[in-house]
Amino acid sequence: MKRTSRISDLRNIITEEKNRGRKIAFVPTMGFLHHGHLTLIDQAKETGAFLVVSIFVNPLQFGPNEDLTRYPRDIERDALLVEAAGVDVLFHPTVEEMYPEKMVTFVEVGELDAMLCGANRPGHFRGVATVVNKLFNIVQPDMAFFGQKDYQQYQIIKRMVNDLSLPIQICPVPIVREDDGLAMSSRNVFLNPEQRQEALILSQSLNEAERSIQMGQKSAREIEEQIKKSITLKSQGVIDYVEVRDASDLTEVTDIRQPVLIALAVKFGTTRLIDNKVVEVKQDV
Ligand code: AMP
Repeated sequence: MKRTSRISDLRNIITEEKNRGRKIAFVPTMGFLHHGHLTLIDQAKETGAFLVVSIFVNPLQFGPNEDLTRYPRDIERDALLVEAAGVDVLFHPTVEEMYPEKMVTFVEVGELDAMLCGANRPGHFRGVATVVNKLFNIVQPDMAFFGQKDYQQYQIIKRMVNDLSLPIQICPVPIVREDDGLAMSSRNVFLNPEQRQEALILSQSLNEAERSIQMGQKSAREIEEQIKKSITLKSQGVIDYVEVRDASDLTEVTDIRQPVLIALAVKFGTTRLIDNKVVEVKQDV
């Protein structure tokens, strides 16, 4: 596996592969890799394309009071994992390499930024869209892989690629969970044993909500209330949001009649976890 922190090196490597006729697959990450990331990498690997993974904890997407400095990092461990997974190049730039000057040019994501994770993290998705666009310009991939764990991010990137006519196929990967249901996340290491146990309520309440919808519950507000009640009753988690939205464009939903996204964010101590579920709706007969 090749490994570089320089944009110019990466460009040279990729140009060579493109000249050989290879397609390029890309998996952007912030590192501290777990089985969720490795599943994205495996799926990208299956395409047979030349596979680029990036690891970059992007300051642009963290607010002033967020966990940028304490975000977990272990580049040597990550390098071993991606090498074993058969990645062709690992790109791990420094902040100076990515942002040598103060940025003045950004990708705005309009109303998609003002809801769900964007509402309480102003500028977060602008930072995400900007760095992903920059990485796309550096890597020039044919395909890029994104986890549905970050469903809003996936939708925003898909939209950016359409709006800006980027010739890149965006490939979604379902959420990868621990055996007990907790969605895998680099931030799970911050949970103490009690919080780790309590956090199970997230996936459990999403599963309960799915059952309610399948049994005929059509009210989006009722579903949100049901989930909030479960979380408050069974944990000390502090709810940031619980929302039912249209799964295809994230618009608001009152009556559940089309596939919906149920998304939530809950803080356990200082650790903010997100989870979601897309629920298909049985048609009325
Ligand atoms: P991150 O390093 O957290 O920025 O994540 C990098 C990529 O991995 C994003 O596309 C995430 O959606 C994806 N990802 C992270 N955790 C999971 C998971 N548990 N299941 C599926 N994809 C994930």
